[in-house]
Amino acid sequence: MCEGVRAAGDAAAAADVDVITSSGRRRIPAHSTVLASASPVLESILQRRLKKERDAAAGGGKVRRAVVRIRGVTDDAAAAFVRLLYAGSSGDEEEIDEKSAAQMLVLAHAYRVPWLKRRCEGAIGSRLTAESVVDTMQLAALCDAPQLHLRCTRLLAKEFKAVEKTEAWRFLQENDPWLELDILQRLHDADLRRRKWRRKRAEQGVYVELSEAMDCLSHICTEGCTEVGPVGRAPAAAPCPAYATACRGLQLLIRHFSRCHRTSCPRCQRMWQLLRLHAALCDLPDGHCNTPLCMQFRRKEEEKAAAKAKAKAGDDDDKWGLLVKKVRVARAMSSLGKRRQMSCSQC
Ligand SMILES: [Zn+2]
Ligand SMILES: [Zn+2]
Ligand SMILES: [Zn+2]
Repeated sequence: MCEGVRAAGDAAAAADVDVITSSGRRRIPAHSTVLASASPVLESILQRRLKKERDAAAGGGKVRRAVVRIRGVTDDAAAAFVRLLYAGSSGDEEEIDEKSAAQMLVLAHAYRVPWLKRRCEGAIGSRLTAESVVDTMQLAALCDAPQLHLRCTRLLAKEFKAVEKTEAWRFLQENDPWLELDILQRLHDADLRRRKWRRKRAEQGVYVELSEAMDCLSHICTEGCTEVGPVGRAPAAAPCPAYATACRGLQLLIRHFSRCHRTSCPRCQRMWQLLRLHAALCDLPDGHCNTPLCMQFRRKEEEKAAAKAKAKAGDDDDKWGLLVKKVRVARAMSSLGKRRQMSCSQC
């Protein structure tokens, strides 16, 4: 016990700085090297203070410890801040309690301690509620804490109905309409972005489906599958892996196409589109593709391309070209994914 007390006494004696809290009630002995290495702001304060003390001592004055004041926060928060600076970013992760987390974030921002700022953002963000989100968002903006700001925006978007009922939101509406407008604008933008992303995802799903249909069409027209096979050959008896998802539906469509005699049939139109799309994507040399109408469509497209070179192409052709391009990309992506899966399964 005596050893411990003596060690603590030695450590305090080696301290060359006193950190004083805003109330002035607490004086925490500290080492200037530790504080200066933890924070560039403290480093610059300490350089000035230590020089002043040295000059005073050289002039025959009383030798005193330099003093650093941490203002604007409670004594406990200031003490915890010094403790955390001593522990450092790689030290034991001291729990940042709910009460002092906001003050700690302010200190980490003011004294430029980035690792502590990130920890405070994490601690505050993990306890975010509809009640606290408005105040926290303002704090995040003041302390330049982008991660925390993003979490607040997400929670606002998710639970806006609950936030609207809180006292903090009502206070904001009455006292800071500009911030209210800014938040509503952000929510609107986030909603637009979400809708756009959903639309893009749905579109991408269609291109991937078309790409799978192209693979199935080639597979049916070269090997055949259960019920439909290439011209003059029996189809393979065993169903392919894509039988349930795409192949069976395409087989039904092909069978319908071969029997239907209606002049205007949506299912037949769909089959025409698939055959045309196949021809646009097919890179087999002339006479090597078994898919019906592939050559005819390719000739037709070549004629169109030649005509397009002479005259400006119409809007429809541009759209078709875009569709072909997007399905080609989706196809390349899915074959890349399959290759990766195969190489992973072989590992
Ligand atoms: Zn199949
Ligand atoms: Zn039909
Ligand atoms: Zn072909």
